[in-house]
Amino acid sequence: MFIDPHIHVTSRTTDDYEAMRKSGIVAIIEPAFWLGQPRTKVGSFQDYFSSLVGWERFRAKQFGIYHYCTIGLNSKEANNEALAEQVMDLLPLYVGKEGVVAIGEIGYDDQTAAEDRFYRLQLEMAKEVNLPVMIHTPHRDKKRGTTRSMDVSEEHGLKPGMVIVDHNNEETVKEVLDRGYWAAFTIYPHTKMGSERMVEIVRQYGPERIIVDSAADWGISDPLAVPKTAALMKEKGIPEEHIKLTCYQNALTAYGQSGQMDEQDWLEAEPIDQRQKLGGNSILRGGQTPKVEGSSSDIVEN
Ligand SMILES: [Zn+2]
Repeated sequence: MFIDPHIHVTSRTTDDYEAMRKSGIVAIIEPAFWLGQPRTKVGSFQDYFSSLVGWERFRAKQFGIYHYCTIGLNSKEANNEALAEQVMDLLPLYVGKEGVVAIGEIGYDDQTAAEDRFYRLQLEMAKEVNLPVMIHTPHRDKKRGTTRSMDVSEEHGLKPGMVIVDHNNEETVKEVLDRGYWAAFTIYPHTKMGSERMVEIVRQYGPERIIVDSAADWGISDPLAVPKTAALMKEKGIPEEHIKLTCYQNALTAYGQSGQMDEQDWLEAEPIDQRQKLGGNSILRGGQTPKVEGSSSDIVEN
């Protein structure tokens, strides 16, 4: 069993869902983020958040995958301050919903004053509602942005154990682990942070507080990055127990602190029944035969 604790499945297809389930992914976390182009109305954020706790959660379940999400204002769109303020008013309506396991992904992109302001406001919110935080570290000036993310989080009194720092690399991992944070790694295909490098990091630092994810979205990315990395770890002689921690258990322990994510959800899952509807809508198109499992132990056939 695998968990992919960072994937934007709203942008992915049903083929992806089927392949993920077949590869052993039982649960996923979809962080609220930006959509490739800036939103212009607060209503677009509202409908997006509603789909994360509603339709997408339902859709995943039709393929035997348990869907959780994080809610937050992403750093990029924090730079539209007038809109960002309206989004902040919206967040309290969503952070307490079923399946919301963290505030995120928040943090810095270009490390502007506006990003800093909304990052801090959301750290306060996380503290108030006692949810973990998922931090998106910047792709540019990463080392400094990562250090700053942790400094500011501590300034606001968050415990490192409640904070998952994502998009790490060899440059940032040591400091993140030394300071007591969860260190997540996004495996991007055809880049520096591929599966090969991940194996070496686990070999060097061990499995404690390290989390592997795909961050697959609408860009060039791989929704099977977690199971593929796990397979490579096995091939390279990483102990089974370390693979389980980094590709399953650590994510569950970190985000389970929300009280919203429990292994029993999928261990005692109801059988897949694609005849189900949400708000009158199903995933079926005209004439298709729904998949209906005889029992929860059945494997989904593709
Ligand atoms: Zn993301």
